[in-house]
Amino acid sequence: LLALLGLLSGYAARRFLSQRNSLTAELRRAVDAGEFVPFYQPVVLGESGELAGAEVLVRWMHPIEGIIPPNQFIPLAESSGLIVKMTYQLMDRVQAELLGQLPSLPGRFHIGFNISAAHCTSMELLDRCRAFLKPFPPESVVLFLELTEREAIPATPMTDELFRQLDEMGVQVALDDFGTGNSSLEYLQRFTVNALKIDQSFVAKAGTETLSSHILDIIVDLASRLELFVVAEGVETAMQREYLNKLGVEYMQGYLFGRPVPFTEFAATHLPPASNGAGDRTPI
Ligand code: C2E
Ligand code: CA
Ligand code: CA
Repeated sequence: LLALLGLLSGYAARRFLSQRNSLTAELRRAVDAGEFVPFYQPVVLGESGELAGAEVLVRWMHPIEGIIPPNQFIPLAESSGLIVKMTYQLMDRVQAELLGQLPSLPGRFHIGFNISAAHCTSMELLDRCRAFLKPFPPESVVLFLELTEREAIPATPMTDELFRQLDEMGVQVALDDFGTGNSSLEYLQRFTVNALKIDQSFVAKAGTETLSSHILDIIVDLASRLELFVVAEGVETAMQREYLNKLGVEYMQGYLFGRPVPFTEFAATHLPPASNGAGDRTPI
């Protein structure tokens, strides 16, 4: 029986590994074929509804399966290291798309990318951010890097230097899903952080008498003491917006203001026509 069990578990492990390898190969093919495209979700000033910027959320345009959402491939892209090339491809594409609509963008347009631990293992991230910002006139675009705790960013002299130089360049660092991981507070201490993104699980409880609602209040208080921007994610209802406004949360993102969409749709919905001139903002 033991021998049989051993055989079966060996077979299962081999199957798992070969499946993982073929998925990784498929992911690699798709990166080379340019199948990962940026979708844009608006970030607005909560009170006025004016457009402040956008978060870039990747979608896999699979030739057979159609649009595949990120939670189905980001973990493997991260563990295989393919996320690095994928993100830099996205940055190139976003740069070209934004440059094409520069006259319609509000001034200091916030553009946020999700960054993984794998990006922080070399100084390449610094060069990529510099290259991204280079063609934009000063003050037209503000680059945000959103860090999650899915994979810990190692504390090394290299990462300290990387974040110091990013800060020097004016690149803003936001802690994503704040309050849900183990190391948020450690990251706050180690890196120069500019913004906290409140996780949608807390926003969903805004205004209710629950523990999550108290956590929301405490995060906003912490951010104000540390002089950090706050962005509330997953704002879906006018009531949540009102509660967050009263708390003093400046930036908001969520289906109430707009879903993630391709750039053409984002520009058509959220940006004024180019002829209206720079600096116009669309109240939402
Ligand atoms: P995230 O960075 O926390 O992004 C917010 C997620 O919440 C997005 O899911 C967005 O579509 C969704 N969302 C926004 N507003 C609402 C709302 O009002 N209600 C609800 N229920 N959901 C809302 P999405 O696009 O499926 O992305 C999931 C996660 O995948 C992201 O979470 C991020 O961690 C990761 N991800 C997406 N794109 C990238 C990428 O280019 N690189 C990396 N490393 N991770 C990415
Ligand atoms: Ca994010
Ligand atoms: Ca988040």
